[in-house]
Amino acid sequence: MTQTSFATHEVLNQSPPFEDVDLFALDRRLVDAVAANGGASAAKELSEFGKHWGSAAMAARGRVANENTPKLRTFDSRGNRRDEVEFHPAYHELMAHSAHAGVHNSTWTAQGKPAGGAAEVVRAAKFYIAAQVETGHLCPITMTRASVAALAAKPGLLAKTMPVIATRAYDPSFAPWWTKRGMTLGMGMTEKQGGTDVRSNMTRAEPDGDAYRITGHKWFMSAPMCDAFLVLAQADEGLTCFFMPRFKPDGSVNAIQFQRLKDKLGNRSNASSEVEFNGAYAECVGDEGKGIRTIIQMVQLTRQDCAIASAGLMRSGLAHALHHARHRSVFQKHLADQPLMQAVLSDMALHVEASIALVMRLCRSFDRAPDDANEAAFMRLLTPAIKYWVCKSAPGFLYEAMECLGGNGYVEEGILARHYRESPVNAIWEGSGNVMCLDVLRALSREADAAGAVAGAARGGGCAQQGVATSGGIVRSDPACGGPPQHVRRRRPRQRGYKEPAATGAAMISTEASLPGLTRQSIPSEESCEE
Ligand SMILES: Cc1cc2nc3c(=O)[nH]c(=O)nc-3n(C[C@H](O)[C@H](O)[C@H](O)COP(=O)(O)OP(=O)(O)OC[C@H]3O[C@@H](n4cnc5c(N)ncnc54)[C@H](O)[C@@H]3O)c2cc1C
Repeated sequence: MTQTSFATHEVLNQSPPFEDVDLFALDRRLVDAVAANGGASAAKELSEFGKHWGSAAMAARGRVANENTPKLRTFDSRGNRRDEVEFHPAYHELMAHSAHAGVHNSTWTAQGKPAGGAAEVVRAAKFYIAAQVETGHLCPITMTRASVAALAAKPGLLAKTMPVIATRAYDPSFAPWWTKRGMTLGMGMTEKQGGTDVRSNMTRAEPDGDAYRITGHKWFMSAPMCDAFLVLAQADEGLTCFFMPRFKPDGSVNAIQFQRLKDKLGNRSNASSEVEFNGAYAECVGDEGKGIRTIIQMVQLTRQDCAIASAGLMRSGLAHALHHARHRSVFQKHLADQPLMQAVLSDMALHVEASIALVMRLCRSFDRAPDDANEAAFMRLLTPAIKYWVCKSAPGFLYEAMECLGGNGYVEEGILARHYRESPVNAIWEGSGNVMCLDVLRALSREADAAGAVAGAARGGGCAQQGVATSGGIVRSDPACGGPPQHVRRRRPRQRGYKEPAATGAAMISTEASLPGLTRQSIPSEESCEE
């Protein structure tokens, strides 16, 4: 209960908390985008999810999990290694609620095949809603979901792990994965000398019977209490993907030794470790020397989630700004009735509408890609373009949302300060901005069908066209709503190379093909896929 009466004053003209709302039903653009992309029959389920995640109790869990950050327990009191990270109970509760709703696995069948139907769209709606409440715990949730795509390169291992991945239980116990009710997976690619250029990885893999011993380090490895990690290391044939569990097959703890946790700008409920592998047990996933080709299957899905989460963060910023403006009076009028504030809020609303339309259209392509080559090409080209555009626009957008709340937006009791600190990370990890631009170029140069598929989707209208057209307009018209930075905006799209580029990001990027020095040889990320 809050106290509104003080000895010196009454508390007046403050907006009530934006809590105990249905984050699905309240969001008309989300409801429409889910329906337009095949998910209409999930409306009831999504509304239940939206009410649950829109509750005051879930908001409190999000706040507490970020105020009480994870702690690394390297040793016990007797000097034995523990290498465990302790999280606040609120973090575990968030994980349990997401797992219970299948956010970590519902795009797969129990056998690890794509679930089909509108599974991607429905799960994306949940991910987008959960991101409005707490994003840190979504790191292991997204990596677990995405890991299945890489594990597919080793069918025997996929068959063994899927029964544990496919449950909707969250089991935080520190125990071998095969004894648990549910499991989570992470990934370790980035080393001190290079994150984008993973070919520079120095971590080595030595064969040891049917398995390998891995020796080396990772400079960033998030969610260290995951039950297993997909890790890149150099084997005899080159960079290779490995499945590295926390426990060895004999049940003893694997040689995964955490050095420290990162002190991060945001994403604070999630732990991100620096780690050494001291001859750690691991199994090869995919062929030796094909590590990037294997792990890129996982990364494609985590890139998709970066865009979904950033759209969710922006939707939350908009919802809080609108809610406040409808309750707060300034100069005898609600802020929502002040013409200049209406202009700001309208631009923000259009930006969110464009983002959700784009993201949900992208998710439809993930649903349909296994059976439709055009959708597969659309997915391949637009995943980096949409990740680039949506994630890049989030920090500027959230700054604008904070400002709509005035000083209340800037303080830590509200959620917007946390969203603002969180927002840059989606652009940085899973392929930073430039890397996404180069990846679009690579897709265009390798897969001629991709541009045609995107142009076809734009001609076909519907959500994609609506979203792209709207978003492009906003980016050009209103710097305040958080479009790409100036250096990108100056490169205005020109029609060249392929016709009717539908995505604003892709169009801007396509012009860069003519920049001196930007040749195929300078496209690093997936040249390595030629391995
Ligand atoms: C909170 C957090 C958690 C993370 N968790 C994980 C994890 O769990 N597992 C993991 O493996 N990694 C993780 N990372 C690491 C992250 O994926 C990398 O930081 C990211 O891939 C960038 O790599 P880098 O830091 O080495 O930067 P660099 O690769 O050095 O890139 C620096 C900049 O250069 C740009 N750049 C790169 N190549 C080119 C080029 N050819 N032309 C022009 N510009 C270029 C990039 O876009 C970037 O802006 C995490 C990072 C953060 C911040």
